[in-house]
Amino acid sequence: MDNKNKTQVIVVGAGPAGISAAITVAKAGKEVILIERGNFSGSKNMFGGAIYTQPTKEIFPDFETSAPLERNNIKHNYTILTEDESTSITYRDNTEHSNSYTVIRSKFDRWMSEEAKKAGVILVTQTVVRELIVENKKVVGVKTELEDYYADIVILADGVNSLLAKQIGLRKDFDPKDVALGIKEVIKIGKDKINERFNLKDNEGCITEIFGYPMLGQLGLGFMYTNKDTITLGLGITLSELISHKIKPYELLDKLKEHKTIAPLIEDGELIEYSAHLIPEGGYKKVPKLYDNGVMIVGDSASLVNNLHWEGTNLAMLSGKFAGETAIFSLDKNDFSKKTLSLYKKKLDKSFIMKDLKSYKDLMPIMHKQSKSFLDYYLRKINKFFKMFTETNSISKRNNFHKFIFETITERNIFELLKDGLHIIKLLWGILK
Ligand SMILES: Cc1cc2nc3c(=O)[nH]c(=O)nc-3n(C[C@H](O)[C@H](O)[C@H](O)COP(=O)(O)OP(=O)(O)OC[C@H]3O[C@@H](n4cnc5c(N)ncnc54)[C@H](O)[C@@H]3O)c2cc1C
Repeated sequence: MDNKNKTQVIVVGAGPAGISAAITVAKAGKEVILIERGNFSGSKNMFGGAIYTQPTKEIFPDFETSAPLERNNIKHNYTILTEDESTSITYRDNTEHSNSYTVIRSKFDRWMSEEAKKAGVILVTQTVVRELIVENKKVVGVKTELEDYYADIVILADGVNSLLAKQIGLRKDFDPKDVALGIKEVIKIGKDKINERFNLKDNEGCITEIFGYPMLGQLGLGFMYTNKDTITLGLGITLSELISHKIKPYELLDKLKEHKTIAPLIEDGELIEYSAHLIPEGGYKKVPKLYDNGVMIVGDSASLVNNLHWEGTNLAMLSGKFAGETAIFSLDKNDFSKKTLSLYKKKLDKSFIMKDLKSYKDLMPIMHKQSKSFLDYYLRKINKFFKMFTETNSISKRNNFHKFIFETITERNIFELLKDGLHIIKLLWGILK
């Protein structure tokens, strides 16, 4: 870097997206500065959560032997809660395969940033980028509280709020429908109790997705992850729901903790952490313009999240990698125009990232319209079905089945049932076509 603080690439934000972009650039022998506002990478970051093995290996091939991992998630549990009932379905993988690991972000992001430093990334912490420097319609650097830094290319990986992308008009303010608030508690239970309660061995983990109560009819989901000796329990709910129903998110979490299906799993636990963070949920239709002269945006700042599958870090890491590769290409060409940086968008379009977001493009609009049916009526019906199926009384099974089917159809207007059916076909068509 010369005395004008000029480097080849600046990356703003040292989360999974920014670190992946920076490490990709550094490994090609280019100069890169990674600027993070927190005391260290991960100090400001939270998630559910699990990172995914295959995408993580693309950036950190040996992470399974060196990163601070909690548990290897061999169990996926899907639970439907209503006030007094629950139905669960569990998938368990008993092979050696590992699809995902739970991690604690303050440890994992810090580890990723140390790996980036080893690859040659210059990490600057405790520094907030206030503004982008734009000259002749090209982003040429960043302003921090202390000094200005200049670069051929700036990559914005500053997360869901990305004030910087807004400053240069790449993004608009969020509509409350397109962003969820995630809140969670980390509860210390102890390794042995976790193994016992979730039927696991030492390094095995379980992910639980919770549908319904206490958010029946509202656009929200609960989640539970097992760490080494703690459990993460939380929920995500769309901001528009919180605003229109005047809901207090921590009251929802308290209700979830008290549900008779959940309470025994966290019994005698000690609350050691409470945190909240926004999640971009707009999907494909809300992905902003991803590049301009001298600049690209990656990860959450570009709204790259697949909320149904709780996928965010993988999209963040791989979008960071694609932006890093594009930066290398444009540095070799000595051309930082938006035409050259459009390669980043092409890489995203060719990858599973845009393909998946496109497949699910109708999910959120449909859920906003039909949350009362898909996240209340049918969930109740599933629990009622199992109640009917398991109950032994002096009524013939045939009559019980008939009664259940009759009630399912008559309690809901026939037009509503048809509308629900059409929405399901539309969703499946979008995913499978
Ligand atoms: C409750 C919850 C549960 C989730 N569960 C999962 C899960 O289980 N699995 C999964 O894959 N994803 C999950 N996600 C999503 C996932 O956390 C995100 O998609 C992912 O962290 C995005 O990475 P990122 O690098 O784009 O942004 P972030 O991780 O948000 O990182 C942005 C970084 O930029 C820094 N920064 C911001 N502004 C500035 C600035 N002006 N100057 C300098 N630094 C700045 C921040 O401090 C931060 O370090 C979850 C999210 C939430 C909220």
